Amino acid sequence: MVHGGAGDLARLADPAQAPPYLHALRAVLDLGRGLLQAGGHALDVVEACTRVLEDDPLFNAGRGAVLDREGGVALDAGIMDGRDLRLGAVAAVRRIANPVSLARKVLESGSHVFLVAGGALRFARELGMAEVAEHELVTPERQAEHRRVCAGAEPAEQGTVGCVARDRHGHLAAATSTGGLVCKGPGRVGDSPVAGAGVWADDETCAVSCSGRGEDLLRVGLARTAAHALMHGGMDPGVAVQVAVDHLRRRVAGAGGLILIDRGGRCACAYTTPRMLRGWIEHGGEVVCRI
Ligand code: ASP
Repeated sequence: MVHGGAGDLARLADPAQAPPYLHALRAVLDLGRGLLQAGGHALDVVEACTRVLEDDPLFNAGRGAVLDREGGVALDAGIMDGRDLRLGAVAAVRRIANPVSLARKVLESGSHVFLVAGGALRFARELGMAEVAEHELVTPERQAEHRRVCAGAEPAEQGTVGCVARDRHGHLAAATSTGGLVCKGPGRVGDSPVAGAGVWADDETCAVSCSGRGEDLLRVGLARTAAHALMHGGMDPGVAVQVAVDHLRRRVAGAGGLILIDRGGRCACAYTTPRMLRGWIEHGGEVVCRI
């Protein structure tokens, strides 16, 4: 299951604008299906799929990420392995085109689970990971949006990306990657890389990836709320995601949504925002994409 962000996404209400986004999700779902059918592990699959979305300038992650107040690109990503709750996260990292892969390296390092800003970049350098000039991550569309929002316009859609998967061994994994919110202040980090808020995976329950206003999602711990609801609410994924977004709405009037796959491979999604871009393949069936 993949998503390309929850938000107003007003542009995607126009049928003429939607096809490239839906096409991108379909392509990623096809990639994920192929990898899983070949016996790929859920953790590898969510990383591979998230990388493709990070590389796609349509989305607010990697190349095409939104710009911060100073016009720079600071990226957040988290990845989690449901087998043993291993976790890797990076936040406010610059010059890395695929922060999800840096987060994966943090996960594998075993010593730390969360690195930020200069420390994350230093870790990437120690690994010999390729660096890009920050302007290579910037698109003209994001520059125009940055000018509008800094001049007082309401921020429009975002386009954070996320992926959850269950492999043929029954293991779950989740990844979320974002540029955050447009014109965000220095050092601001949202929910996306934070386990229990924007990303979560536990083989005993489910894998979750979220999107929306990170401040709201952090306050309620949206991903963990859904996992908790699943565990204590009869293990129905549709109910669990609804419980989570009801809680988000009721407690903080929050804007956001989530995708969830449970340990039986059942998929669910819910959101409080006008739209959420998402797609899924349930039990090896048809590709379904929705806005
Ligand atoms: N949740 C992300 C953040 O607040 C943004 C988004 O999902 O659009 O950083």
